[in-house]
Amino acid sequence: MICTQVLIIGGGPGGLAAAHGVASVGANCLILERDNRLGGILNQCIHNGFGLHRFNEELTGPEYAHRWIDIISTNPHINAKLNCFVTEIQRTQDGFLTTAMSADGLLEVESKAVILTTGCRERAAGSILLGGTRPSGIYTAGCAQKFINIEGKSVGKKAAILGSGDIGLIMARRLICEGTEVVGIYEIMPASGGLARNITQCVRDFNIPLHLSTTVTRVAGRDRLEGIFVAPVNEKLQPVYELEKFVPCDTLLLSVGLLPENEILSKFGLEWTPATNSFAVDEFFMTDCEGLFLAGNVLHVNDLVDNVSSEGEFAGTSAGRYALGELSKGAERVEIGHDEHIKYTAPKYIHLDHEGTAQISFRVSKNYKKVIIKAFSGGKEVSRKPCPAVTAGEMQTLIIDKSKLIDGLYLEVEVL
Ligand SMILES: Cc1cc2nc3c(=O)[nH]c(=O)nc-3n(C[C@H](O)[C@H](O)[C@H](O)COP(=O)(O)OP(=O)(O)OC[C@H]3O[C@@H](n4cnc5c(N)ncnc54)[C@H](O)[C@@H]3O)c2cc1C
Repeated sequence: MICTQVLIIGGGPGGLAAAHGVASVGANCLILERDNRLGGILNQCIHNGFGLHRFNEELTGPEYAHRWIDIISTNPHINAKLNCFVTEIQRTQDGFLTTAMSADGLLEVESKAVILTTGCRERAAGSILLGGTRPSGIYTAGCAQKFINIEGKSVGKKAAILGSGDIGLIMARRLICEGTEVVGIYEIMPASGGLARNITQCVRDFNIPLHLSTTVTRVAGRDRLEGIFVAPVNEKLQPVYELEKFVPCDTLLLSVGLLPENEILSKFGLEWTPATNSFAVDEFFMTDCEGLFLAGNVLHVNDLVDNVSSEGEFAGTSAGRYALGELSKGAERVEIGHDEHIKYTAPKYIHLDHEGTAQISFRVSKNYKKVIIKAFSGGKEVSRKPCPAVTAGEMQTLIIDKSKLIDGLYLEVEVL
């Protein structure tokens, strides 16, 4: 049995920053990571574009992870164990008892607080009801990324990509660099869900056809994929089958969404937020269960790792203070309201305790040019952020000075 004040499950960027946050308030923590190294998904993201906000530098994924590993590795408050797959978390009278399968057998950890930073997994062919046969050559984009970047394997000669989120766009460029022809990216929505910089640098610069409002209706091939059928979709996102056509290819990458890896908490009866496929948290990143925190992609899917780090760090300081008995939360907790231009906010709740600041992340429901994001409390404006453009694919953040809160918080997007 191991005892620690805070247990962090998952050693990706969210978990590494959380550990730094816990240690910064003088508490100790243990990270349990199922992989044989820290860094999470960043280890397979060998492209650059990480850390522009955090370190003011353009780093690759492994470089960004190593910045954090270097930061935490000499801190006596932080320990990490690799090859430990957490299988169960139980509430006890004093905190939590967590069970993991490790290379040395069953491991049990007692802690006052738990931070879950387990990231997310990709949606696969089954979850989008992809029609047709089941030949080889169909991969999720992240799986193909792992084969190419970590194992040095080629995934095919002629590829199509379904979905134009960041992972799909980045993999389109990666395939071309590896000598695979990319016949096209097919996106069911009228606009790409990826960051503007990825559309330019990964698609336009490589002349890859991006077909918007178009989907893959079925796949064909017996042993290996021989091609896909694609069709435009109508305004209800249903395929127009009369216009279906066959595109020959031997590889299909699916980049059709990520699902937070949070099933381990299902028995806790926490409040579910359908817009994020995860559980609701307050501004301390604490769930409805006292002492149980969430941060990073397991809370909501982030496009920028810098946001994951700042969220993780904040959750870490909150959990550390909680474990030390120093987290004072006002009794009154209110839901953060928002207008129809905003899909969700994380956190969902905020306390009216007038202490410190709160970081609110959110996504807008569609792309807008020229907006002002405003936050109100008691009818008064407490924060505003003018933006030349906002897209549904890019996370927005607003820092709220809690001393200004009167009776709640409401976010609005004024479209100019
Ligand atoms: C393909 C791809 C490209 C990206 N490109 C960029 C980019 O260019 N720029 C940018 O800023 N951001 C980018 N991102 C986003 C950024 O990398 C992620 O948002 C960030 O890595 C999420 O961090 P995380 O710690 O929440 O999750 P992860 O990095 O997924 O880490 C979660 C960790 O938890 C571990 N874990 C899960 N379950 C358990 C368990 N039961 N027991 C123990 N351990 C467990 C996992 O092994 C993993 O190490 C990209 C993401 C992807 C997937």
